[in-house]
Amino acid sequence: MGGTFDPIHYGHLLAAEEARRFLNLERLIFVPTGEPPHKRDHKVTSCEDRYAMTLLATAGVLEYSVSRIEIDRKEATHTVDTLREFIRSGIEPRDLYFITGLDAILSITSWFEYEKIPELCTLVTARRPGYPVSKIDSLPKFIRDKLEYIEIPQFAISSTEIRQRARDGRGIRFLVPHLVEIYIESNNLYRS
Ligand code: NAP
Repeated sequence: MGGTFDPIHYGHLLAAEEARRFLNLERLIFVPTGEPPHKRDHKVTSCEDRYAMTLLATAGVLEYSVSRIEIDRKEATHTVDTLREFIRSGIEPRDLYFITGLDAILSITSWFEYEKIPELCTLVTARRPGYPVSKIDSLPKFIRDKLEYIEIPQFAISSTEIRQRARDGRGIRFLVPHLVEIYIESNNLYRS
């Protein structure tokens, strides 16, 4: 499961768990992005903080782990390289699923070597009930053919909203796991 996770929240965890159950996945590996070159709208929190929060959010769940694969990469991180690295480690493309948000998937045609991605994995994304299918229809057919959807209950929560609430001093309790809330507060993240 790939994402910036700035910060990780219950929406991500819910989508991850639904995907794990629906696809009967043996393992779920969270892959926080490195310093993403494509982020322009806000300064992304350091990858070590995002990695730490992802560890705290997933600790104790047997099937979950967190990978440093993109954080430790010195160059710009591209999903295609991450998938290739998992395949090199012995995972067959037919057993590899890349789970991420729908808005991210909708921009896939701008990703580095995106044409190769459907050969390397099955794409999985969470679709909220009632999401307009026309947007998805605009994706090339070879992408749509390798796209699986999981339906998650309406859950209006986003990292952007959580950062804003933290900045404004409004609470973030029950939007993120308790240890992530403590981490954000004690490290003064998103305050300025
Ligand atoms: P983003 O633009 O920050 O997020 C787009 C939308 O998807 C947001 O609504 C976001 O919600 C949601 N989202 C992101 N990750 C999610 C997840 N794991 N589960 C559910 N919703 C999720 O996207 P991003 O985080 O930068 O990128 C997502 C993934 O696409 C990453 O793995 C990234 O490496 C990959 N990507 C690759 C390339 C490339 O190869 N060139 C380019 C762009 C993205 P929140 O804000 O609440 O998370």
